Parts: sequence; C-alpha cells; structure tokens
Amino acid sequence: MKVICIGRNYADHAKELNNPVPASPVFFLKPDTAVLKDNADFYLPDFSSEIHHELEVVVKISKAGKHISAQFASSYYEEIGLGIDFTARDLQQECKSKGLPWEIAKAFDGSAPIGLFLPKSNFPDLSNVRFELKINGETRQVGNTDDMIFNIDHIIAYISRFITLKTGDLIYTGTPSGVGPVKIGDNLQGFMEGEKLLDFTVK
Ligand code: MG
Repeated sequence: MKVICIGRNYADHAKELNNPVPASPVFFLKPDTAVLKDNADFYLPDFSSEIHHELEVVVKISKAGKHISAQFASSYYEEIGLGIDFTARDLQQECKSKGLPWEIAKAFDGSAPIGLFLPKSNFPDLSNVRFELKINGETRQVGNTDDMIFNIDHIIAYISRFITLKTGDLIYTGTPSGVGPVKIGDNLQGFMEGEKLLDFTVK
C-alpha cells in the first residue's frame, strides 16, 4: 500500500506557511514504512529539531481504480479516519528553498500515524465533518472538511489521473491551520465529530 498526501488543501494553513493557494491539488507520497498504527508511540527522529504535527482526515481506498471521475469517486472508499502528517519543518524549508523534493522531511519512518477508521455512512454529510487535535488535553487544531479547497471526490479523481489507486491505500487530505512542533512526552489525541480516533505519545 501507499500513502498519498495532499498539501495546501486548506486556505488558512497555506496562508500560515506563506504558500499560495493552489489551482489544482498538490500531492506527495509516503512509503508504507511511514505508517504507525494502533496508537504506537512516535519517536522523535534525530535528524530534525522541528517536527510539526498536521492533523488530517484520512480516506481509505476500498477498490482499485484509475482515471476515476469525481462523479463516481465515492464508490472507491467506505471509511474515513484521522492521521498525523508529521513533517520535519526545518528540513522541509531547506528542501523548498533549494527546489528539492520533500521526502526527507515528510516520508520518514513513523511519519504517518493513523487511528481508527469509521464507516463513511456514519456521517450524514462528508463535506461537513469537524475534527480536532488536542495535545496534552489542549486544543491545537480544529478543522472542518467544509473548508477543503478540493473535496475528497475531486482529490481521488485528480490523483487517479496519474497513479492507480489500490485497495488499502491511504489518502491524507490536508491539514487546517494550527500546525506546530511536538516534543517528547506530548500526548496527541485526534477527534472526529467528538469521537476519539487517535491517541498516542511522543517519545
Ligand atoms: Mg499535510
């Protein structure tokens, strides 16, 4: 399986990093070794001094497809959940300033914690799902899928023009504003419509 991440999909987050709001989705990949399951501890890597949390809605692909039209995209996923797109912001800034790819900043081991997934049928409107990140009990990020620049179906259509989606692939759909650094001992909890899906500690 692979992890595909959308960047700059919330205007307020693009603004906080001084990035332009894109005209089409921006995406990058993480390998399967990035995935951290079952609320396993996240170990801060030694190559960065600025690891940022980015809480994101994650879509689990349930059927293989290529050239999927947005109109039919909803039949390619049955579950959504929450994940953290951990980012070595210091390395990413260096890569961006040199025009280099971002993998060392985004694709490292453990950089994609994922929590429980819920059936999409639990949500009356996927374009109005509230999600929240608490660190040590304090709210740090709040988002609503209503604020996505490109919605889930549009994202699937766009990615599948270039890359075949397979069962089990995960799509991180972008983070709202409020990203910031984590430190050893932090407890991260992710909530979707008030239900806790993610709960792990930084070591
Ligand atoms: Mg992200």
